[in-house]
Amino acid sequence: PMSAPAEDPKRRVLKDVFGFDDFRPGQAPVMETLLAGGHVLAVMPTGAGKSLCYQVPALVLGGLTLVVSPLVALMQDQVAALRLAGVAADTINSSLDREANVAAWRRVAAGQTRLLYLAPERLMTERMLEALARLDISLIAIDEAHCISQWGPAFRREYEELSRLSGIFPDVPIIALTATADEATRTDIAARLFAGRVESLVLGFDRPNIKLGIEAKQNSKRQLLDFVQRHAGRSGIVYCLSRKKTEEMAAFLEQNGVTALAYHAGMSKDAREANQNAFMTLSGVVMVATIAFGMGIDKPDVAYVFHTDMPGSLEAYYQEIGRAGRDGRKAEAHMLYGLGDIRMRRLFIDDEDASAEHKRRAHRRLDTLIGYCETAQCRRQVLLGYFGEEAPPCGNCDNCLDQVPRADGTAEARIILAAVAQSGERFGAAHVIDILLGHETEKVLARCHERLASFGGGVAHKKDFWLSLIRQLVAGGFLEPDPSGHGGLAIAEKGHALGRGEIPFQYRVETRHRAARGKLRSA
Ligand code: ADP
Ligand code: ZN
Repeated sequence: PMSAPAEDPKRRVLKDVFGFDDFRPGQAPVMETLLAGGHVLAVMPTGAGKSLCYQVPALVLGGLTLVVSPLVALMQDQVAALRLAGVAADTINSSLDREANVAAWRRVAAGQTRLLYLAPERLMTERMLEALARLDISLIAIDEAHCISQWGPAFRREYEELSRLSGIFPDVPIIALTATADEATRTDIAARLFAGRVESLVLGFDRPNIKLGIEAKQNSKRQLLDFVQRHAGRSGIVYCLSRKKTEEMAAFLEQNGVTALAYHAGMSKDAREANQNAFMTLSGVVMVATIAFGMGIDKPDVAYVFHTDMPGSLEAYYQEIGRAGRDGRKAEAHMLYGLGDIRMRRLFIDDEDASAEHKRRAHRRLDTLIGYCETAQCRRQVLLGYFGEEAPPCGNCDNCLDQVPRADGTAEARIILAAVAQSGERFGAAHVIDILLGHETEKVLARCHERLASFGGGVAHKKDFWLSLIRQLVAGGFLEPDPSGHGGLAIAEKGHALGRGEIPFQYRVETRHRAARGKLRSA
């Protein structure tokens, strides 16, 4: 089934064998290093998906992968799960009777087994090592690798022997995995397992040197330029949703004295390569790209990743911002986000040729991302929490650095809901705001909306205020895009409850954005 040409064999295995669409953070770089023949020390939290980091490469590489694990029960579980997925996995261990172990070895020796799970003391016998030396070993994975370190609290004598592996199988990539290893333990593991040749260290999800920030989209060109100028002379990546926009934005930056290049899949291969090379080799180049750019890009001194549009999911966002600050220096991830982004993403999902269940799941994932954008909590906490990692407030995100005030907006929300309801739940934010502000636009007059009870009902506030509130009502599930897909707003069940006065509505007061905008206008 895997004979068809594939752009990315590991992604294909992920999908075909394990049924997952996306890699979890950290997985792809680990796999890439192993497939390129390098050793990896992966320190990732429990639940991060460490097993797939070697299971996928094992299947991509073929041959035999040895997996060392200290616990028999764990090995049995893994082998059973792999077999369910149709993967030829075996274990040889002390809890099996002799016959079962002999049968397993026969499959291994016949080249039928892809993954063989062994306890370290089984693996490190001379007999086993000699027998394995005659086979085609592609990869060695060492689970719970901290057990090899005398610094750690879980030192196991039988793990110590594993330090001979890199000498016995000098050409075989080794991955050591653990959920807990401080710096001293990491150095110790690398020294023992890889003879000091640590080629790649992949840490868990947190990237504390990347400052996280999100801003309401007002004038994306100006906002981008302001941001880029604050990082003048540094390299950065700017992600845009469309190919056309990457070219427009790059040209706009160029006009303003910034060295910027575009990158998208619609460009010729030569042009793409030239731009990528310039970005990799020169410093201070801004790459304005679609998500086609980034796979396998390992430039350590990328100072920022700027999203001019909301990304596809929280996983995608995490992966994309992870390209900043690999050198450990201060870096920044900044996103612009507006109502249009939510609408666009919903349309993408609805237009997909997929099952209702798939769409429902995609909408739910989008809700998670919107929740991240709208949260007043520490962003890192929300982001890490999504991947199952608990963390204290980080002190390095906009919400931590600049506490966002909240206020009761129940009355204002009800004014919006009234205007939406009275105009038939068919119009977008711009028109609803025209009604609230009492603007006699052509569209308003053509529909006789100047006669609505809510016409002019919102003159106490400015347009930006209403836009922000509408966005937050959409994000909070009070308003939803109308099902016809024309960008109109409809009232969701939660919105009706709010309208009836059954639930209150709290909103985020966006003083920062108003202040920033005021400055721009007067400039
Ligand atoms: P760890 O060993 O790091 O604690 P596991 O390898 O047991 O984590 O994986 C934890 C869970 O995450 C498993 O249920 C696994 O199927 C799931 N998982 C791993 N990778 C992915 C992925 N790319 N997409 C979705 N689920 C994944
Ligand atoms: Zn924070």
